[in-house]
Amino acid sequence: VKALEIKDLKKVYAGGVEALCGIELTVEEGDFYALLGPNGAGKSTTIGIITSLVNKTSGKVNVFGYDLDTDLTRLKQQIGLVPQEFNFNPFEKVQQIVVNQAGYYGVSRKEALIRSEKYLRQSGLWEKRDVRARMLSGGMKRRLMIARALMHEPRLLILDEPTAGVDIELRREMWQFLKELNANGTTIILTTHYLEEAEMLCRHIGIIQSGNLIEDTSMKSLLAKL
Ligand code: ADP
Ligand code: ADP
Repeated sequence: VKALEIKDLKKVYAGGVEALCGIELTVEEGDFYALLGPNGAGKSTTIGIITSLVNKTSGKVNVFGYDLDTDLTRLKQQIGLVPQEFNFNPFEKVQQIVVNQAGYYGVSRKEALIRSEKYLRQSGLWEKRDVRARMLSGGMKRRLMIARALMHEPRLLILDEPTAGVDIELRREMWQFLKELNANGTTIILTTHYLEEAEMLCRHIGIIQSGNLIEDTSMKSLLAKL
């Protein structure tokens, strides 16, 4: 079964903007896939539809065999989303934030506490578990967003511009972290407008422009062409 299968996906926003003009996209389980493209290309819209934050106009979306139209609850269980903006409560404590998240997915409190230690350690945040989120550095806040997205143990992690506006030092640290996650079996899709980031991390790349997927290839063969 494919991690993600998108067929003829179209999105016309209210007002008439044609954001997606019939995207076809397949991501294999275990892959690390970059969706690359300039601002306004349709990356966020694509991710928004997969995560059911945006309604599609037409087309098919399947995540690990679950259809967006008929199996939304189970589809959502498969996905961890790391949005671009920090959207946790800055006055809550780090561990509280991730434990509460697990609750939304029906994970028991006992299990949530066990997982919180696992994912906060993995994110280098265990020592900060009792600190209020607003006290964390920018890099730690990003890692908190990822740890939180992992609490229901999704098979697919989607990150929207994970290193936008992040300095190069921190970007490298994030890359290492994401590589390890992928090596441990999580399928990852990220959007980026840094080719370098896609090159460093990803095995496959899709290039999206004006709502069309104009390239969908392995990183190897793309680099051979350049
Ligand atoms: P949907 O079709 O998914 O329900 P909408 O078309 O209703 O989404 O748009 C949601 C809101 O975002 C609207 O209030 C819209 O005005 C606003 N919006 C309009 N243009 C943009 C844009 N380029 N980027 C982000 N938001 C926009
Ligand atoms: P990207 O993530 O690649 O920057 P987006 O998916 O945000 O691209 O945007 C694709 C197109 O859809 C752009 O023309 C954008 O202005 C438009 N758009 C995005 N969100 C909305 C919205 N809520 N309402 C209307 N138009 C939107």
